[in-house]
Amino acid sequence: MNKDLWKQSFEDGACPEWPCPACHAGVLVLEKGSLRHAATDASMRDRDEEWWGPEHVVYSFTAWAACSNQSCGEKFALTGTGGLEEYYGDDGDSEYADVFHLRHCHPTLHMIAVSDNCPEALRDALNAAFSLFWIDRPSAAGRIRVAVERLLDHLAIPTKNAKGGYLPLDDRIDAFGKSDSVHGAQLMALKWLGNVGAHTIDVNADDLLAAFEVLEHVLSEVIDRKSAAIAKLAAEMTKKYGKP
Ligand SMILES: [Zn+2]
Repeated sequence: MNKDLWKQSFEDGACPEWPCPACHAGVLVLEKGSLRHAATDASMRDRDEEWWGPEHVVYSFTAWAACSNQSCGEKFALTGTGGLEEYYGDDGDSEYADVFHLRHCHPTLHMIAVSDNCPEALRDALNAAFSLFWIDRPSAAGRIRVAVERLLDHLAIPTKNAKGGYLPLDDRIDAFGKSDSVHGAQLMALKWLGNVGAHTIDVNADDLLAAFEVLEHVLSEVIDRKSAAIAKLAAEMTKKYGKP
């Protein structure tokens, strides 16, 4: 997972090479001339004041992107904010460039691969987390926590105790961890981040991207059983080509 890809802003000519969630083969390419932007009234209101400078400009933007894979051709509607960023030209003089920050993309971009074997409820929680990543990171952390709940549902880990009361997520993860302690500990880490998201106004982008990476690994191992599938392939190759 290239975490930097998900933290990049962009200029008018090109957007970061975000992977296409439809085909998983192409990347987003900004459609030439599609980006339109305007400065918000609030950010320009004080432009005659002495303290006001270009760094106070806030843009709204809309743009279109398309998948680079010609056999896919998915189209993406992008919206977001932007501003002017100072840089120094070759002659050493200070200049300003328009810089844009994605806030919403439809269809939703996927920070991690979502297996076709994931049940719909888990997929919905993941899509919500991906979408919230751009606008509300604590809420995205909360959706990751919900994804953990939906994964445990899929694995038939009970939601209630013997008396019919609902089990807290900790207890459900512990129940899962009895048969898979490694991935149980990883799910518990995701739960902690979800708890933080519920009680603070800021969740670090790196922490959230790390959580997506952990979740991708757990899903590939628990739902797709990747290690088991690779071990089976290796065993078959050994049987076919190995020395007796
Ligand atoms: Zn595509």
